[in-house]
Formats: sequence, C-alpha cells, structure tokens
Amino acid sequence: MTAGREAWGLTHLLGTEGLAAEDAVKVLDTAEVFFEVSRRPVRKAPTLRGKTVVNLFFEPSTRTRTSFEIAGKRLSADVVNISASSSSVSKGESLLDTVKNLDAMQPDILVVRHTASGAPHYVASRTRAHVINAGDGTHEHPTQALLDAFTIRRSLGRIAGLTVAICGDVAHSRVARSNAMLLTTLGAKVHFAGPRTLLPPAPDAYPVTTFDRIEPALEGADVVMVLRIQRERMAGALLPSLREYARKFGLNAARLARAKPDAIVMHPGPINRGVEIDGSLADGPRSVILDQVEAGVAVRMALLYLLSAEPGQAPLA
Ligand code: ASP
Repeated sequence: MTAGREAWGLTHLLGTEGLAAEDAVKVLDTAEVFFEVSRRPVRKAPTLRGKTVVNLFFEPSTRTRTSFEIAGKRLSADVVNISASSSSVSKGESLLDTVKNLDAMQPDILVVRHTASGAPHYVASRTRAHVINAGDGTHEHPTQALLDAFTIRRSLGRIAGLTVAICGDVAHSRVARSNAMLLTTLGAKVHFAGPRTLLPPAPDAYPVTTFDRIEPALEGADVVMVLRIQRERMAGALLPSLREYARKFGLNAARLARAKPDAIVMHPGPINRGVEIDGSLADGPRSVILDQVEAGVAVRMALLYLLSAEPGQAPLA
C-alpha cells in the first residue's frame, strides 16, 4: 500500500467494462487498509473531513445505500441520502434538473442508482462532482463486482486462474455483467449458467462460456455466484414457475458437490431463499455472503478515498 493518494487515473466509476487491471487492483489493495479500520473498536478516520457525498437513489436498496452511507461516515465525510420517492422527482422534476440543483450545492461525490441503464453516465456529463454508479438498470453494478473480487481474493488468496460460475437470471443482472468484465480482466475464467430465457440474448458479447444447465457450469468451479431472480425486470413470462426454477436451476447440496470441495458460495443479495439457493447453503460454512457485505463497506471507502482525497493524502490521515 502506498503512503499517500496517487493519481488513480479515473474521475468517475461508471462500470467495470474497460476498467484497467491495475486500477481495479489499486481499489482492492486500498480496501485492505479500510477493511482493518472497520474491524477496530473505533471505526473512523478523518480522511474526507469537509467533503460531501450525496447518495442519489432512484431504485430500492438496502445493502448498497447503507454501505455507501457507512463508508462515507467512517471517512468523516458529510453524507446526504436522497431517494426518489421523497424527492422532487415524485413531483415530476427531471433527472437533469435534479442533477443541476445538486451540483449547485457543490457535492464532491454523487453516488447514483437508477432504473435506466446509462443514467449515471448522463449524470457524470452534467456535474462537476465525481460520479459512482451504484447500479443502473440491467447494465452495470461496478462496486458490487469490486467487493466480490475483494471477497474472492481474501477467501481464496487470488483471482487469476480461478473458475467462477455465475448462475441464474443472468439476462437481467447488472451484477453478472460487471463481474464478467472485472473477473476476466483479473485473469479468472467465467461461466454464465441459466435457463435459455434468462441468458443474455448475445452471450458472445461477453468473455465467458455460456451453459443452459447449471450442472456442467459448476464442474470444477472455485466460486459459485448465485443471482436473484429479478421478477421486477421481467416483462413477460420467462419462467414456468418459481418452483420449477428451484427444481431445475436452484443451488442445492447435490449441485454444489460438482464444484471444487473448497468452492465458495456467493450471492449479491437480496436472496430468495428456496428459489435460487437453498437456505442451508446460504447460511452454510462455504457461504461468504455476509463477507461480501462486510467487504462492501471497505471497497466503497476505498473508492471514496481514491476519487476525492487530496493528492498525496494518506488513507487514514
Ligand atoms: N442488489 C443487486 C443489485 O442491485 C442484486 C439484486 O438486486 O438482485 O443489482
């Protein structure tokens, strides 16, 4: 870890597509420092005193919003949370007007979640603040992918050379997309697996191998990443029933036995227990689901620091 903040080379974090391996590794290495801070009795550093972080959420969120809020507060930033339902968006204000008004208040970082793919990119072109994409439609969720990479590296000691099976509703998953890009950049092999109706329409667009059954995708995997069935993003009937889906595609002990004996089980949350994963596996010894949540705070602290600390400033100063 370096003593002070070097130029990270990025003004915003909008996606993992095109994110250079060295920039991603810098986030992971910096997050190690903040991970230790988060385990101390006093979980606070003065690093971002005087900086303002605005969490602008146009879609529901439990983990991501709370995690960004805690991350900002642990770095002593002033953190403001805005959700669409309690803002002037519910009075018909456009995204552009919302952003112009927030920009006039001089925030340092805008963390944006939106139902429309590309919304954070649009915001980034209209504000002087640094923008972090906290999930845009079915497009990208880069901070989730970075916290997943951090969790994999801490659990298995490396990322390069591992096989990661990403299973379930891939078509609607920004988590799958961001992970596929980041993990392959970091040298992992990625499998996508799910029913044909829930696989991306053009799987060749991704650097992955695609399977329409779970079993072969899990063969020899080091990491099994299960995705939530995203009913809120399904326009038509893409599944016969949740019961049928659980029977054919849900992660259970018999299916997990095909992966490596020390394979870890991941899920970005929220979990549909008994649908995409057996509750006993989500709570079992191979699950790192809550480690992912813990990692989320450290990774987001790292991003806030890398984007907005003063040049040369040390992570804990
Ligand atoms: N929480 C993740 C997201 O916002 C995954 C999910 O909702 O299924 O994309």
